Order: sequence, then C-alpha cells, then structure tokens
Amino acid sequence: SLASRSNKQHQILVCVRKRPLNLRELKMQELDMVSVPHEELLVVHEPRKQVTLAKFLEHHHFRFDHTFDEHCNNTQVYERTARPLVRHIFEGGMATCFAYGQTGSGKTHTMGGEFMGKQQNCRDGIYAQAANDVFAMLLLPCYARLGLTVSCSFFELYGSRVYDLLMSGKPQLRVLEDGQQHIQVVGLTEEPVQNTNDVLTLLELGNSVRTSGQTSANSKSSRSHAVFQIVLRSAAQKSLRGKFSLIDLAGNERGADNCSANRQTRLEGAEINKSLLALKECIRALGRQSAHLPFRGSKLTQVLRDSFIGGKKVKTCMIATISPGLHSVEHTLNTLRYADRVKEL
Ligand code: ADP
Ligand code: MG
Repeated sequence: SLASRSNKQHQILVCVRKRPLNLRELKMQELDMVSVPHEELLVVHEPRKQVTLAKFLEHHHFRFDHTFDEHCNNTQVYERTARPLVRHIFEGGMATCFAYGQTGSGKTHTMGGEFMGKQQNCRDGIYAQAANDVFAMLLLPCYARLGLTVSCSFFELYGSRVYDLLMSGKPQLRVLEDGQQHIQVVGLTEEPVQNTNDVLTLLELGNSVRTSGQTSANSKSSRSHAVFQIVLRSAAQKSLRGKFSLIDLAGNERGADNCSANRQTRLEGAEINKSLLALKECIRALGRQSAHLPFRGSKLTQVLRDSFIGGKKVKTCMIATISPGLHSVEHTLNTLRYADRVKEL
C-alpha cells in the first residue's frame, strides 16, 4: 500500500522523470501523452485502434516511489533520489544510481554529464551535487574525525570492453576475477579530489575523452554505459569506507536493435540487451534478499558486483527517464515496464 511504501527504509528506490517536449517536438506539434497526476503516479495515454478501426486511448497507470513531471529541475530530482545515498556511503555502505531510458529522454541531462564546453552547465547534475554533498559531509564532526579521503573513477563500457575515461587515449582495461570472486578492473584510475571543482574538472576530461571522434554527441555515447564512481577510503589504512556508482546507461532502445543491417550494431544491441536484463535481475535478486546474484550475466553487472553484494549495506536507485511525445509512446511503455519490474515488492 501507499503508506507502507513511504514508511519503509528502501533498499531499492525506483523513480521516473518525464522531460518536457523540446522545441523541435513543439514545432512539429508533437502531442504529450504522459501525465503525472501526483508524485507517485504516472499515466501513459496510448492511442489504439479497435478492430472496427475506431480510435481510442488506452490509459496505462504506473506507481513508483517517486515520479517527476516536466517542471521538476535537477535539484528536486537529486534530493529525492541520490542525496540519501550519499549519507549511506558515509555510513559504510555501497550505493548505485542508474539513469535508464531511451536515447534523448534525459539520462545525461539528469546525471549532469553534459558539458557543452562549460562546467557551469553540469553543476546541478547528480554527479556534481553528489560530490558537493560528499565534501559537505566530510566536514561534519562525526566524519571529520575518521580522516576520510575522496577519489573518483570514470569508465565506459562499450560492448564488453571497459575503457578508462580519466586516462589520455582512453585505454582499454582488463577485468579480472580472483579466487575469492573479487572483480577488479585492472589499472583503473582512482583520482584523489579535494572539492567539487576537482570533480567537475575530471568529469569534463572524461566526457571529452568519451565523446571524441564522434559525429554527434548521442551517436556512440548512446551505445555505451558511463560509470562515474565516488570512492571514500579511510586515510589511515586505505581501506574502503563506501562507494557511490553513478551510471548513465546506454539507450535502452539500442538493446532492441536486432534487425539493423550492420552486423556490428546488431552485436552491440545484443550486448546492451544482455546487460540491461542482467542489471534488472541483479536488482530484483537484491530486493528479494536472494543469496544468488546473477551478476555474471553481463560485463556491466560483473564490474558492479561489489555494489550488489553485502546485503543491507547495499542501496540502489533507478531513475527511469521518459520522453513524453506521441512518437515515443512505445519506448516509454517499455521503459516503464522495465522500471516496474525492478520495484521492490
Ligand atoms: P539521453 O542522455 O537520455 O540520450 P539527454 O540527456 O542528452 O538524453 O537529453 C536530450 C535533450 O533533451 C538534451 O538537449 C537535454 O538538454 C534535453 N533535456 C532532457 N531532459 C530535460 C529536462 N528535464 N528539462 C529540459 N531539457 C531536457
Ligand atoms: Mg546521453
């Protein structure tokens, strides 16, 4: 019920964000088919045809932990999604926040990986706001006495390959698993940071490396997952205190691309599909407190394994982003059905 959902300390939080129609869509007089009646509900109005060819709208109702309409800004989204997870990593937990959705629905806008040459543009994104809170919390007496250090990693998963976005030339990294099932991305840069500006500089660097050589910003980045991590260690023993992984997932429509003429594109689509399915299964297993996590299902879940094991010390937040337009209704419903499956029962 509604009451029990909001009273519970969630391990898995599933939220949806609707973006506004953009200028191009407004010019084409695209219709807005999504309404957000209140902050836990969302309705998609799907045009259908009866056998008699009479047209009607089918209304699909969805309930989530939180729904954000087109008037919500990044700060409002941040406060209800990632902010509680920052506290969690200070308390020694592992946290992940995923942006999941169709290309063009607002994943990168939400996470704040959009630079356009100006760091200013991403100050309100989740990456920067989470970093801001991390540095603010470091100053709290209860944490200041722990002598924690903060560092960041930023990598990209393209197909089943991992690339370090904080190293020039974007080298490919190997993923190794030792006897104890610990998974390590060998040689991944973990750059120490002192303040939010340091983090913005790293994000800018990583983002320029990520998109270099691409004809359009969305061409290749929509086919890869970008993983940004904030790592807390206790300075004395260098031991891990907590880790926050913030992930801008590949466009989910890419996973459905199994009929492209290009073999490479089809293979990529299959890998994306595999990783998004494995991700869903891992989050569901987490919600069921299941001992078995199907993280081997994909490279993505393999490299995130650390963030799924550990029982109560693991928290996850998914932000499903949707485009409101008539032409996106099918993708929007796919996104919402996926998010619905991830919800804790
Ligand atoms: P994705 O990363 O999912 O492919 P983007 O974040 O790049 O999508 O968003 C596509 C376009 O829509 C960008 O120009 C972005 O600035 C704009 N946009 C996305 N979400 C919003 C929003 N909530 N408010 C205003 N503009 C948005
Ligand atoms: Mg993007």
